Amino acid sequence: MATRNGPTRHIFITGGVVSSLGKGLTSAALALLLRQRGYRVKLQKLDPYLNVDPGTMSPYQHGEVYVTADGAETDLDLGHYERFTGIPCTRNSNYTSGGIYRSVITREREGGYLGKTVQVIPHITDEIKAAIRSLDADDVDIAITEIGGTAGDIESLPFLEAIRQYRHEIGRRNGLFIHLTLVPYIKAAGEMKTKPSQQSVGILRTIGIVPDILICRCERPMTAEHKAKLSLFCDVDENKVIEEKDVEHSIYEVPIELARQDVDVYILEMLNLHVNPLDLGEWKRMVDTLLAPPAGTVEIGVVGKYISLRDSYKSIYEALTHGGIVNGAGVRIRMVESEDVEKSGAAALLDGVAGILVPGGFGDRGIEGKIQANQYARGNRIPFFGICLGMQCATIEFARNVCGMAGANSTEFAPDTPYPVIDMMIEQKKVTEKGGTMRLGAYACAVADGTAARQAYGQAEISERHRHRYEFNNRFREKLQRGGLRFSGVCPGRDLVEIIELADHPWFVACQFHPEFQSTPLRAHPLFRGFVEAALRAAARGEGRKTKRAARPGKA
Ligand code: GLN
Repeated sequence: MATRNGPTRHIFITGGVVSSLGKGLTSAALALLLRQRGYRVKLQKLDPYLNVDPGTMSPYQHGEVYVTADGAETDLDLGHYERFTGIPCTRNSNYTSGGIYRSVITREREGGYLGKTVQVIPHITDEIKAAIRSLDADDVDIAITEIGGTAGDIESLPFLEAIRQYRHEIGRRNGLFIHLTLVPYIKAAGEMKTKPSQQSVGILRTIGIVPDILICRCERPMTAEHKAKLSLFCDVDENKVIEEKDVEHSIYEVPIELARQDVDVYILEMLNLHVNPLDLGEWKRMVDTLLAPPAGTVEIGVVGKYISLRDSYKSIYEALTHGGIVNGAGVRIRMVESEDVEKSGAAALLDGVAGILVPGGFGDRGIEGKIQANQYARGNRIPFFGICLGMQCATIEFARNVCGMAGANSTEFAPDTPYPVIDMMIEQKKVTEKGGTMRLGAYACAVADGTAARQAYGQAEISERHRHRYEFNNRFREKLQRGGLRFSGVCPGRDLVEIIELADHPWFVACQFHPEFQSTPLRAHPLFRGFVEAALRAAARGEGRKTKRAARPGKA
């Protein structure tokens, strides 16, 4: 077990040259390695934008909004943190400039700084340091703080100054800086170039940060010469110039690649922590299954409205991959734009899939396409999984096409519908502000005996994370039940419908919550496991093609 002496150690991870280098993934992979060497790790992300949280942003801006159990709407990198490490994130795991400024300005209005001029340095930087310090605890050996943005951004400056000060205060043996950078291959020259990384480190050095470890994202392997050059010009030990080459198949290979280069060993040595043995056995077995799934590959159609940006449904795609792993199968995802379903019809776009998933979303664009996809899955007995808005669409489809309630809808899309089968939750009706006001975070759900949901979960009470304003309208419960809809999950005490399903169907389950946030590659979420299992059964029966073509699971 952990051999910790002294305080919580801090690792600060910055990014250079370009964004989207996979800082979140790298942070998560390092956290996994340190955890598997017996240390108790916590992760945190600091985002330089001015939104108080990403909850009000479109997925096109910022990818998916990840919801923590304690109800924070956060950056999708927290999803990587939880998936790689299984360590739950909380409100303290994501701070933005907006949130930091809001605290400082609120305190100023309350008179907390009476007599003083309130400034970026020291007041904003102190607030950032307090955010970092929130991870200091007896049960945290190592805290990893990822700084969003790229070195050189105006917005990141207060964060970089804060981490510089923080490391200075805790001392060199207790904190270190890792810089994730890009070593591009320039086709015309036929060469890999280290200059952008040198310049990026140069930017950090002008503000007093000298990275201890350089992790270089690259398409091709780096040579000893590249490493020597970066070591000399960036003032980083040669063995601490680490290569992070694009992984071939899955993001879950990243920790294995980093461990191969002993980066976790260097981290522990620099932080004056004992280098315990690394236990990556279970992880490696999982990756082996992922890369060569013994049960073949199934294709799942995901019908959404933010399909063009893969990050919009990050946790969904990952959870499907996990559902595959636990079944020994690969999952290939067919991404279908719901508006295209409206134009071309569900049959044209979903023919041959072994399962259909309709994820969450907001606003009425593409709704009718999702409803058509629902109808297609129900009518053709294709395994179906609806999540949040997906459940609401399934309810609408069932009301319209099975219970004869023409024009049934959600009041989110049709306020005057004759059958508001989905309606705004009572407590939401008085809410006027948009940020952080939905029903958010983990709530209990009682799962009825003898249902597909209960079979998947294997237990009567579960807890799942939510993010919605609308809900199933209990006024229509009896009528839909008579039509054959089952209410297999209900929020105890509140009587909110949480899970619906169809008895007379191979697997048709839809839930109001977001199960994808709790799925990890080592512990697939029960509903994703059940859904992929049903899809494999459907494929074996010849409904939906089961192909041998290698999947690209996990590669998002
Ligand atoms: N727009 C729907 C609601 O607010 C569904 C939300 C979601 O899918 N996350 O209830």
